[in-house]
Amino acid sequence: MTGSEKLVLSRGDITEATTDAIVNAANQGLVGGGGVDGAIHRAGGPEIMAECDRIRAEKGGCPTGTAVVTTAGRLRARVVIHTAGPRWKGGAKGEAEDLASCYRACMELAREGGHRSVAFPSISTGIYGYPVEEAAEIALSTVAGHLERHPDAFDEARFVLFSEADLEVYKRALDRLKEGSPDSA
Ligand code: ADP
Repeated sequence: MTGSEKLVLSRGDITEATTDAIVNAANQGLVGGGGVDGAIHRAGGPEIMAECDRIRAEKGGCPTGTAVVTTAGRLRARVVIHTAGPRWKGGAKGEAEDLASCYRACMELAREGGHRSVAFPSISTGIYGYPVEEAAEIALSTVAGHLERHPDAFDEARFVLFSEADLEVYKRALDRLKEGSPDSA
């Protein structure tokens, strides 16, 4: 898949990413939480939650599979794109569609905002319990598909994995995607 050429995998803390946009694995209420959500609000400061509060007041929050944009506060990125991933409930409750929808919604908002580089965490694979092997394939193929459809819009889509084990899972999934093997869809 040609879009996969702009996919970059790294291990680290997404709050330190220097991409134009960083993605937060948030929740429907945009109320803050643990994991990457807590880290982003702590590092970015109260301005981010102030905008989340305004969005919640206006729109009621961020339904699963959708995304909203706020300032990045003190972070180096220009914006934070918050998306609410699905909770894993065994796989037959539309989790895969919802997870793909998160990645698509984030890429669409980044493109609309003219943000040429985006950093993603591994959405839903922490507290929400999505199996990382399956989530990695959906994440990478969905983002690569968007990059392929919009070849001039982005320089880079980066996945910042928190653990070495997750990075290895994403590396194997990216290899399969690049090889175009049938189980990479
Ligand atoms: P979710 O509720 O969507 O599962 P979590 O924040 O619990 O979200 O976890 C998503 C992934 O983000 C997990 O792999 C977790 O280890 C990882 N993570 C936690 N903190 C950070 C961070 N600072 N930077 C990047 N990834 C992080």
